[in-house]
Amino acid sequence: MSCEIDLLSKLVAIDTTSTERKGYEKIANLLVKEAQSLGLKAEKIVDAKGIPQILITIPNAPKKAKKVVFITHYDVVPVGEGWDFNPFKPFVKDSKLYGRGAADNKSNIAAAIIAFSEAVKEKLPLKIHPVLAVAGGEETGESEEFFKAIKGDLAIVLDVGCESISIGASGSARLTVKVKGKQAHSAYPYKGVNAIYEAAKIIEFIKQKGKEFEKTVLSKFPAPTNYERLPRRMNVTMISSGIAANIIPGECTLTIDIRTIPEEKAEKVAEETKRMLESFAKENSIDIEVQIKSSSNGWYTTNQEAVDKVKEIAEEAAGKPLKISAELGGTDGRYLIERMPVIQYGTLREDTNFHGKNEFVHLADVKTVKAFVKKLLTAQL
Ligand SMILES: [Zn+2]
Repeated sequence: MSCEIDLLSKLVAIDTTSTERKGYEKIANLLVKEAQSLGLKAEKIVDAKGIPQILITIPNAPKKAKKVVFITHYDVVPVGEGWDFNPFKPFVKDSKLYGRGAADNKSNIAAAIIAFSEAVKEKLPLKIHPVLAVAGGEETGESEEFFKAIKGDLAIVLDVGCESISIGASGSARLTVKVKGKQAHSAYPYKGVNAIYEAAKIIEFIKQKGKEFEKTVLSKFPAPTNYERLPRRMNVTMISSGIAANIIPGECTLTIDIRTIPEEKAEKVAEETKRMLESFAKENSIDIEVQIKSSSNGWYTTNQEAVDKVKEIAEEAAGKPLKISAELGGTDGRYLIERMPVIQYGTLREDTNFHGKNEFVHLADVKTVKAFVKKLLTAQL
């Protein structure tokens, strides 16, 4: 077994479920020990929340060179239901390694550490000052402060797929719509107005508008998968109504989730959506109350020179041309983009079931990411 697969197996074997902060100390100590035994410098920083965060560097890296920060995380999302095997007993089958965290995100940690160690072993002439940040609590949003404190000249987020080079991410906005009817006994429905039936009209409207946005509100960037151009998306994601089986409900609350394209301001989109819903409701005599719950902007890297150079290196590592894309979801790049260009690449190919059951990683992708990191170490950026 190659070094990176061996290390990856050790990492997957430790249950680091984020919601329970399980195994954080154990994996942090293992990472420090493994990195040091490979001739790297490793530092464990316990943050204000008590979560160990790790920084790994190459001892003789040129300190005056450009500082390139590689972003990864050791925590994993909860296992969930329906696995066909023990998620923390990793095994290799058909050139894939299986287990929770195999792809997201332990494969990228292993790839980066082994790339660093091979550079030391082979005495490669380093042209950058590399720092590997391995965060804890990423999946729960608890690593935000750690990422915000990271300084550098370029960030490489190793927490996406390898179908493309990704240089941005979508934003999001959430709204709630309280649809009001009139409560009554269900034996006397003519005395009430069923809020669920009123809400159904709003749901249908949101569904139609959502489909329309996917065709008309388009980013200049493609998505890594499925969309030729990343579109704005809008969906009803939650619905709550009803008190008892024999009551015509007087209220129905919908939650709307919008994913904005990198170029638009999420707050503005949320306000436009609010007005759009209010005017639809008015025209159709539906009584609603819309609230904007949150909005967070998408982003993209504008430093074309950095993008071109990193793209060239990734294409060499992958052995094929890669398109430039922006992510459908959000990424940790948002905590770094105001201070440095951010470029994203990694092993989280769409078919790997990350966050789902029976997660795995393609061993070939781990090799590609290792080669990508290694080539960056000696690149004149
Ligand atoms: Zn991840």
